[in-house]
Amino acid sequence: MKTARPGPDRFPILLTWLLPALLLAACGAVPGPAAVLPAEAPPPLVSFVFDDGNDTDLLVAQPLFAAQGAVASTAVTVDRIGTPEYLSAAQIRELAGAGWEIMSHTVSHPRLTTLEPAAIDAELARSKQELEALGVPVANLVYPYNGNDAVVREIAGRHYRAARGGGRDFNRGVADRTLLKSFPLKHDSGAMERLVDQAFAERSWLIFYLHEVNAKLRLAAARGEFLRGETLRFTPSGATGRFTVSHWFPLYGTSIYYVPLSGRPRPGDVVTGAVSGATAKFDDVMYDKPAQLTRLLAYIRERYPQMRIVTVDQGLDLLGVPALARP
Ligand SMILES: [Zn+2]
Repeated sequence: MKTARPGPDRFPILLTWLLPALLLAACGAVPGPAAVLPAEAPPPLVSFVFDDGNDTDLLVAQPLFAAQGAVASTAVTVDRIGTPEYLSAAQIRELAGAGWEIMSHTVSHPRLTTLEPAAIDAELARSKQELEALGVPVANLVYPYNGNDAVVREIAGRHYRAARGGGRDFNRGVADRTLLKSFPLKHDSGAMERLVDQAFAERSWLIFYLHEVNAKLRLAAARGEFLRGETLRFTPSGATGRFTVSHWFPLYGTSIYYVPLSGRPRPGDVVTGAVSGATAKFDDVMYDKPAQLTRLLAYIRERYPQMRIVTVDQGLDLLGVPALARP
C-alpha cells in the first residue's frame, strides 16, 4: 500500500504533525522527546593516543586500560625503538597482542611541513614498513608536533587510512581522514571530564593525546643526585618507580619526574636511588598521570556506559571510513 505524502498546503501538514502529537500527549506515559537519538547516528567515542612510543605505554598505561576492559593507540617513532625509556620491538608486539593499535609517528620525528615532498614521503612510507616488519599492522599516522599542511596531508593520504593532528576540537564524523582532531590530555581533570561530557552530548569522537605516563613529586631534604633511569624505592610504603629528571627552585625546593612502577608512595616516605644512593623525603604529589587516567576511565565507564573507548582504527571502522587496501 502506498501512503500519500502530505501536500504543500498547510492544512494536511498541520494534521500530519499535530494530530499524532496531540494523541501522544493524551496518552500521558510517553518518554521525553530528547532522550532517544536515531539508532543510525554515530555512537559517542573516545580514544587515547600515546605519542612517541614511550615504554610507559606498556609498563603503566596498558594495565590501567585493561582494568577497564579498554585499549588505546600508541604512535611509535621508529628511530627511538629500543632506546632508553622507549618501547622495544618485543614490547610493541606485546602491546599489539593486548589489542592496542600501533600507529606510525614517522621515522625521525621531524616537523613534516619543513621537508620537501620526497622526504615527507620517505618518512611516512618507511615508518609504516619498518613497524609492519615487526609483525604488527599499521594503518594510521600521528603527525609529529601535530604539524601538517595540504602537501603533508596529501602524502599521508597515500600511505595511511587516516592521520591525526591537533586542533583542540571534536571529530563530528570524519570530515577529512587526514586531519583527525584531538585534544592534549591536560592535568586539569575537571576540564577533561567536561570534554567527555560534551563529546557524549553531541555524539562526537573525542581523541585525547598524551606522552610519557609519569608523575611529579615535590621532595624535601634532598641529599645527592638521582641518576636518570635508576630505580627509586619508597620506604616504608614499598612503592617503586623509575627516576627521570629533577628540578630545583629557590624557595620552592626540589621536584622530580618519575614513572610509578609498583605500589603507591605515601607522603613522608623516604625516596632512595637504587644506584646513586641519593635520598630525599617525599613531600607532596604535584601530579599523577596514572591516577588521573584511572579516574578518567572510571568516569567514562560509570557515567556514560554507552560511550565507547576505542582505538583510532576502531573509531574509523565505526564511522565508516574505508579500510586500507592490503596488498
Ligand atoms: Zn611526538
